[in-house]
Amino acid sequence: MADNKGLTVKKNENFSEWFTEVVQKAELADMRFNVKGFLVFQPNSVTVMEKMYDYMEKSLRRKGHKPYWFPTLIPESNFKKESSHISGFTPEAFWVTQGGEKELEERLALRPTSETAFYQMFAMWIRSYKDLPFKTYQRAQVFRCETKATRPFLRSREFHWIETHCAFANQEDALKQVYEDMQTSKEVLHDIYGLPFIIFERPAWDVFPGASRTFAADVLNPDGKVVQQPSTHLIKHEFAKAFDIKYKDKDGTDKYVYTTCYGPAISRIFASVVIVHGDDKGLRFPWEISPYHIAIVPIGNEDKLLTKAKQLEKELSSFCDVLIDTSEKSPGEKFNTWELRGVPIRIDLGMKELESKKLSLFRRDLNKREAVAEKDLVKHIEAIRNEFTANLIKEADKVFANRIVEARTLDSMKKAIDDGNIVRCNFCSTGMDGLKCAEAIKEKTGAEVRGTNLEEEKVEGKCIICSKPAKKVVYVARSY
Ligand SMILES: [Zn+2]
Repeated sequence: MADNKGLTVKKNENFSEWFTEVVQKAELADMRFNVKGFLVFQPNSVTVMEKMYDYMEKSLRRKGHKPYWFPTLIPESNFKKESSHISGFTPEAFWVTQGGEKELEERLALRPTSETAFYQMFAMWIRSYKDLPFKTYQRAQVFRCETKATRPFLRSREFHWIETHCAFANQEDALKQVYEDMQTSKEVLHDIYGLPFIIFERPAWDVFPGASRTFAADVLNPDGKVVQQPSTHLIKHEFAKAFDIKYKDKDGTDKYVYTTCYGPAISRIFASVVIVHGDDKGLRFPWEISPYHIAIVPIGNEDKLLTKAKQLEKELSSFCDVLIDTSEKSPGEKFNTWELRGVPIRIDLGMKELESKKLSLFRRDLNKREAVAEKDLVKHIEAIRNEFTANLIKEADKVFANRIVEARTLDSMKKAIDDGNIVRCNFCSTGMDGLKCAEAIKEKTGAEVRGTNLEEEKVEGKCIICSKPAKKVVYVARSY
């Protein structure tokens, strides 16, 4: 087995190698598939992502989104209807040009995102103000021919995501949806998956192709680079016009809808779950999305041990998922395996425990061993279950908060960025007039202006680059 030995690389010493090692040793993905940038997701990641999908989809359905399954192929003519969208996505689309031996009349894109598929149907489906708001989502794979180096889960050419597409009678309602999407990110990504992030409104030069405003959650990796997690967009009104999505308003006039979209990429969010909670022993998963909660490891081959293990399994399986490790591995190898795979609790069961009726638990949230009288086991594990995810969140939030640093000069910004931080500073403008200063930051520090925090207080002072009065407080970080 590949995962017997545990990890050899420390997360904070060499994050990049740690990540590769954890993906391979915990058998999350096999990268040997023979198409570049595509990989095989294995059960240890798929079972977690299935649960992640479930929480996200439930949250969306509660808020009135209806599920759809759209075709994977989108005609090129759909993309051509909106110019900024096509110029943004054409370079990275995969195209289907043949059916069998025959050339197709029109080339078809493997969807890189599905606005242009949904919108042509919206134009047929939406008739009256009574049809609005029209809130959809689909769970799908999307395909992007990334030119940057691919990394498993973080940046692949095929990824598994959810995309929501919604239409509204006016811009105000559309903007409310964007805020609701951000709330969904907080409820699901932070409170269930345990990820800390800040949601930024992206600067004008960094909006989604076809959007007028873009908001995105940035999660921080140990190497100081941020990963963009779900983004939500207020789509340009021109987009609805290009697809002729109209409704008859109360007053009898025809009006164009306003649209939004939101894209939580489950396979990429999974990468952040691995990275944020993982440690030098391997994975740690929040209780809610962990494939198993308890691994019982019998130490020895006595029949009595297996009988006891099965009895414990029966008692516990009413409220958690339990497995018994009956493999031929040595106890040490078994410990490594379950710590590596992120099972929240391990119960080590030897003859000593059996006779003393005192069990030995190892809990992965605190990496601590605990002794529990057998009669108190259920109560004890219920208590751990109730605080497990909160413990992971507390630890992750603290790491994140400690790495947001204020800077007043470009030199101090550069140093803080080099030390792996996100830097907060005064900035002239996130409109196109601020682009020059953003480029100066990029040149000096290699980092980008990620945007403004919507919860930010008032701004006073001068732009860190041009010394003009600052209109914004922005956050600056390196990214992938
Ligand atoms: Zn400036």
